[in-house]
Amino acid sequence: SHQPETRLIEQLYGKILRRNLGETEFHQAVREVLETLGPVLAKRPELVDARIIERICEPERQLIFRVPWADDTGDIHVNRGFRVEFSSALGPYKGGLRFHPSVNLGIVKFLGFEQVFKNALTGMPIGGGKGGSDFDPKNRSDAEIMRFCQSFMTELHRHLGEYTDVPAGDIGVGGREIGYLFGQYKRITNRYESGVLTGKGVGWGGAQARTEATGYGCVLFTAEMLRSRGEDLDGRRVAVSGSGNVAIYAIEKAQQLGARVVSCSDSDGYVVDEKGIDLALLKEIKETGRGRVADYAARRGGDARFVSGSGVWTVPCEVALPCATQNELTAEDAATLVRGGVKAVAEGANMPTTPEAVRVLQEAGVAFAPGKAANAGGVATSALEMQQNASRDSWSFAHTEDRLAEIMRHIHASCHDTAERYGAPGNYVVGANIAGFELVAEAMLAQGLI
Ligand code: GLU
Repeated sequence: SHQPETRLIEQLYGKILRRNLGETEFHQAVREVLETLGPVLAKRPELVDARIIERICEPERQLIFRVPWADDTGDIHVNRGFRVEFSSALGPYKGGLRFHPSVNLGIVKFLGFEQVFKNALTGMPIGGGKGGSDFDPKNRSDAEIMRFCQSFMTELHRHLGEYTDVPAGDIGVGGREIGYLFGQYKRITNRYESGVLTGKGVGWGGAQARTEATGYGCVLFTAEMLRSRGEDLDGRRVAVSGSGNVAIYAIEKAQQLGARVVSCSDSDGYVVDEKGIDLALLKEIKETGRGRVADYAARRGGDARFVSGSGVWTVPCEVALPCATQNELTAEDAATLVRGGVKAVAEGANMPTTPEAVRVLQEAGVAFAPGKAANAGGVATSALEMQQNASRDSWSFAHTEDRLAEIMRHIHASCHDTAERYGAPGNYVVGANIAGFELVAEAMLAQGLI
């Protein structure tokens, strides 16, 4: 129905592929968005004339830098640091830092690209960016983590600022790392610039509920999706992957809403706990001890069991929350989940569901929430942290959580209504992509050729 626009988008996609050779995750993220934009271009020829898509897919600035550091034995290591400042159409670049051996430019670009639309959907004044390093924090001492963070910030600081670029955490970067990064920024600049990083400790400029926000938001979005189908989470069987910050607080909120969460996982394997995950124990193992989910099963006892390998999606459930990492839920997993009676899937992680898996779920009528909508609660609460820092204020947990819940309802409504408006009712991928794109595109048109 939108033949010329579809052809134009294919041409553009080809160009983007050639311009970003080998960056497969970036290709995947771009394709998934562009695929849904045909109807918007058909309605808005001025977006075509202004070459908005080509501009949106090219980061404003990409930084790559050396990060040298010495380990506890005095041996010297060299890692690569990245910051991709993708879009400042709606506000300062905003997005997390990921420390993981898999990090490369293509991964940072996919994350930054997703972040642009996600941040737009929150309705908060934040642009999009992402960064990180191929540094592997596993089995590193506290002192090594600190030295790495200090070296990383020694270069990155010159590119940051509360009005310029505001990083936060992602995989491998939590409260501890943000503390070391902030300390080094402060020392180099001689400025207590609270709004330059988010995810800070609550005693020194951090927001209440920021730690919980991504997981809580993901479950609140799921509850909204179910509500629009006349259902709720009470009594539902929920499967979660991952056991980091996002997974832990998704489990917490799901349990608060009456669900029974029967799984979690890490890179070694997964846990099945039919009685429902004991969250206090999981937190003690992961947050205090930086341990593994195998330890959880061993200490929990009873029927709880640990299975090694990547089979977490063989655990039957009504609601699945992938909260681990990109492309962790394949078409085969999706088919297994559908056979097991899954009704809703919401992405707590960024792009955990492969495109083929999304298709399997959607064709089976499963409510599917893409990460840029479902996990936007984290960055939305980062924007609330920036707001508190700018006004030298600090809000209560209850107030912050209320604001988060209101934002998640707003994101759900705008994805839901946009999908309907564009003739794809119930398709949250279409809704999220178009709603996010329209906000960014509008700002770019208004701000001239930038
Ligand atoms: N890394 C998180 C995300 O994927 C949060 C980013 C932030 O708070 O800036 O959205």
